Amino acid sequence: MSTTDALRMARAAGIDVLIDEDDLVLEAASEPAPAVLDMLRQHKGDIIKLLRLEPRPDSDGLSAKDWQFFFNERVDIAECHGGLSRAKAEARAFVWCLAEWLNRNPIRSPPGRCFVCGGGEKPFDPLLPVGIGLDGRVWLHSRCQPPWYAGRKAEAIAVLATVGIVAPADFPEDFGKDGAHACDERAAIIELGAGVPRVWAEGYAALCAMPPPAGFLPARWQRIIDAAGVFVDRWAAKAAACGWSDLDVFGCNPDRPDARLDSMGFVLLLDRREVVGVDEHGADVVTNTGVGQRFYRRPLPPNTVSLWDLVPR
Ligand SMILES: [Zn+2]
Repeated sequence: MSTTDALRMARAAGIDVLIDEDDLVLEAASEPAPAVLDMLRQHKGDIIKLLRLEPRPDSDGLSAKDWQFFFNERVDIAECHGGLSRAKAEARAFVWCLAEWLNRNPIRSPPGRCFVCGGGEKPFDPLLPVGIGLDGRVWLHSRCQPPWYAGRKAEAIAVLATVGIVAPADFPEDFGKDGAHACDERAAIIELGAGVPRVWAEGYAALCAMPPPAGFLPARWQRIIDAAGVFVDRWAAKAAACGWSDLDVFGCNPDRPDARLDSMGFVLLLDRREVVGVDEHGADVVTNTGVGQRFYRRPLPPNTVSLWDLVPR
């Protein structure tokens, strides 16, 4: 039995499980069954760890009841307004909860040192601020991001389980790593208010749902969507604040989006390069071989459209 299951069972048996300093405190209307007490004793250390992470009504978090309400409300929205099946609506609501928990429990770290490996900044191995808003910035090397992100998600999933919000049975282990799941998750996080223009967040969600436009091989289109997602996640708020337009980011030629370089906005030009800085004149990027390059914002032809405005073939 997992720690989460143990805690859930105890609560289902009417026991309030609390922490006081380094100890577990149990409150119940009647003496709990010995088997339940045994189970709690066995998992005591891990339960304390879990409870420390659990949102409490006296912090800025939500209580277990609030979480249930939040979850159920989103299931309703997805089911009634989004027209999803019950199972899909629950999966979507779970993603919302995950994003909400991550946003409510930001991790901050001081600049200058990687939060994961403790290493400093090197040329072409820059430290990047990851997270959203001013409160949730953690500084990481790009190679240190996947393990950090996986750990954060595992933490969120464990905590949500303690308040009875459980990952769908087929919830992928690598959720958020790539493809459609990443899209769902990012769209949810973006919508939760990140200083990202609404039209970019919605446009990005539309890109995720679109088939590759004419001229794009699926693999290339997926790279573009991934690049767009990462850009919207990490840099869109800054780019918008620096005056970038929809077309600066998502622009393309309506007839030959795959080929007309003069109309290509940033995400079409980015390819496998990683963004390391954004300002009002452009962006600094690094290639996968570690070469630094500069992308300049520039006037685009008048017929340029946003990628999500492309007519499906
Ligand atoms: Zn690192």
